[in-house]
Amino acid sequence: MLFKELVSFYERLDAVSSRLSMIDIMSELFKKSEKDEIANIVYITQGVLAPPFEGIEFGIAEKMVEESIALATGFTKDEIDKEYKRQGDMGKAAFALKEKSKLRRMSNKEYTVNDVYDTMRKLAATSGSGSKDQKIKILANVIAAATPAEAKYVVKYPLDELRLGAGDSTILEALSVMATGKRALKPELEKAYNLCSDLGLVAEELASNGESGISHFKISLFKPIRPALAERLPTAEEILEKMGGTCFVDQKYDGFRCQVHKEGSKVKIFSRRLEDTTAMYPDLVAAVNKEINAHSIVFDGEAIAYNEDIGEFLPFQQTIQRKRKHGIEEKASEMPLRLFAFDIMFLDGKDLMNEPYRKRREELERLLERGAVVRPTGSIIAKEPKQIDEFFQATISSGLEGVVAKDMNSPYTAGSRGFAWIKMKRSYKGELSDTLDLIVVGYYLGHGSRSEFKFGGLLCAAYNDKKDVFETVTRVGSGFTEAQMIELKRELDKIKSEGKPKRVDANVEPDFWVYPKYIVTIKADEITKSPMHTCGKAVQKDGTEAGYALRFPRLVGDEAIRKDKGLDDATTTKEVIEMYDQQKRVKIEDS
Ligand code: ATP
Repeated sequence: MLFKELVSFYERLDAVSSRLSMIDIMSELFKKSEKDEIANIVYITQGVLAPPFEGIEFGIAEKMVEESIALATGFTKDEIDKEYKRQGDMGKAAFALKEKSKLRRMSNKEYTVNDVYDTMRKLAATSGSGSKDQKIKILANVIAAATPAEAKYVVKYPLDELRLGAGDSTILEALSVMATGKRALKPELEKAYNLCSDLGLVAEELASNGESGISHFKISLFKPIRPALAERLPTAEEILEKMGGTCFVDQKYDGFRCQVHKEGSKVKIFSRRLEDTTAMYPDLVAAVNKEINAHSIVFDGEAIAYNEDIGEFLPFQQTIQRKRKHGIEEKASEMPLRLFAFDIMFLDGKDLMNEPYRKRREELERLLERGAVVRPTGSIIAKEPKQIDEFFQATISSGLEGVVAKDMNSPYTAGSRGFAWIKMKRSYKGELSDTLDLIVVGYYLGHGSRSEFKFGGLLCAAYNDKKDVFETVTRVGSGFTEAQMIELKRELDKIKSEGKPKRVDANVEPDFWVYPKYIVTIKADEITKSPMHTCGKAVQKDGTEAGYALRFPRLVGDEAIRKDKGLDDATTTKEVIEMYDQQKRVKIEDS
C-alpha cells in the first residue's frame, strides 16, 4: 500500500467520531493491506514501532523534528517555530510549510507504508555519537519527498501525536470485521492478543492463516502474556461466597510485578506494562537460573525488597529504588529482592493456563520448594471467613498491604480483571479503601495562591472498556505539591486539545482539554451519584440522568503522573460502579 493511501484512511478516521464509523473505515483499511504490511499498519495506527516488550522508541524530540522540517523545506527554525505556535500542532505546521515551500517535493518517489515504517525503524535504531544529526537527516529525507498531507503524518507518528482515537479494543473489532464481516470474532482475537501482547502479530496471523490461525494461537516464550488482574470485595464473607465456599488466600506484596520467562539459561523479566525489565534485576535472573529446575517456564510473581537483618519487607517507596538505569549491581547487593511467585502459565513445553489454579499452585510449590530468593507466596486455604480475616490481620502486621484470594478451579485469566482473583486491602470501613487510577482529560487554571502556577486542578476520567471511551468522574483540586503542579502544567500543555478530544465523554468543560495520555492516582472519601459526570451514566428512578462522582478527591503518591501505567491500566467504569456498590454494602453493615 502506498503511504498516501494510508494517509487518506487516517484523514477519513480523523473526520468521524462514532465508533462504528471508525471500525468500518479501519476494517476497510485492513482489508486493503497486504499480509506483509498489516502488522506495520497496526503498529502505526497504535502510534508505536513495536509491541512494548521490544522496547523500541523513536528517540526523537520536537526540536529535532523542527530541524528536519527546516532541512526539508528550506524555512528557518524561527519560521517553523512560528508556524508551530500558530497551528498548535507540529503535523499541521509541517503540512502548511510544505504547501508554502518552494522545495515542495524533492523527488517523485512514492513511498509505500513499509518504506516509511522501515525508515522509522532505522531512525529508532540510530544511536551513539552523532546520532542526533543522523536522525534529523533521515526524517528530513522522508519529509522532503512527501506531499504536504503525507508530511503531516510523517511528523505526527514519531512525536506520538497521531491520536486517531482508536484503542486496542477498536482495532480488534476492526480486524474481526475485516476477516468475517462481523464483530463477533473479537473475543477470539482478544484471546490471541492476551497470549502475545502483540497486536501486529495477531493481525498478521489473521491475515495469513485466517480464523484457524487465531484459534490455534499459543503462548510463545519471551513474548509476555497480558497479566491477570484482581477484582475487589470488602469482606471475607463476600469473598468466600463468590469463590464457592473455599479458596486459596495469598499474601499481597507491594513491589514490582514480574512475569518471568526462562528457556535454558536465557531469562527475561517483563513488567506489569509488558516492558522488558530484565536489566533491572541481575540478582533475580541469577536466582531463577540457580533455583528453578526446569528447562522452560513462564511464571508470575511480585518482587519486593527484604531486609535480611531484621526479617522485614520494605515499603514500596524503598523497593522502587531498584528501578534504575545505572548502578544496578550496587543497588542489587545493597537492597536484595525476594521474588514471590503466585502463578505458573507454562512449564517444559506445556501450556498450563487452562489447568485449574489448584494444579498450577501444586506445580509452583514443587518447583520452588527450596528457593532462597524465588519462592511461592505465603498462602492458606480458607473455608471460613474467620480464617481469611485472621490471615489478613497477620499479613498486615508483617508490613504487607493485604491479601489476594484465588479461585482454586479457575484458569489463568490473561488480560482481564476477574473474580478468579479478589484483592482485599487494608481498609477503613465506610471510607473508600482503594485508590483509583484515572485518566487526565483536562485541567483548570489556578486562582488565588495557585495563580502563579497557572494550574488549579484536573478533570479526570475512568475508562469505559466496553465503549472504548473515557468518562469523567471527578475534578481534583487537592493533594498536589508545588513541584507536582509545575510538572503537570508543563506536561499537560504539550498535549492540549483544541476541543473535547474524540474519545472523551463529558458534561463539564475544563479550562483546557488534553488528549488522554496520563494516569494519576486519586484517593477519595466516597463515590456518589452526580449529574455532573458521565462515568456509568444512567437514567435514575426519578427520571433524571446521573453518573458516578468522587467526593473529596485528592492526588496521592510521590509521582503526579503514573508513568508506569497506560490508558489500559486505568480504573474502569465497571470498577467504579462495583466500588460504589461495595461501599454501600459496607455502610449498611456498619449502621
Ligand atoms: P494495586 O495498586 O492494588 O496493586 P493494580 O491495579 O496495580 O492495583 P491489582 O489488580 O489491584 O493491581 O492487584 C494485583 C497486583 O498485585 C498484581 O498486579 C501484582 O503486582 C500484585 N500482587 C502482589 N501479590 C500478589 C499475589 N499474591 N497475587 C496476585 N497479585 C499480587
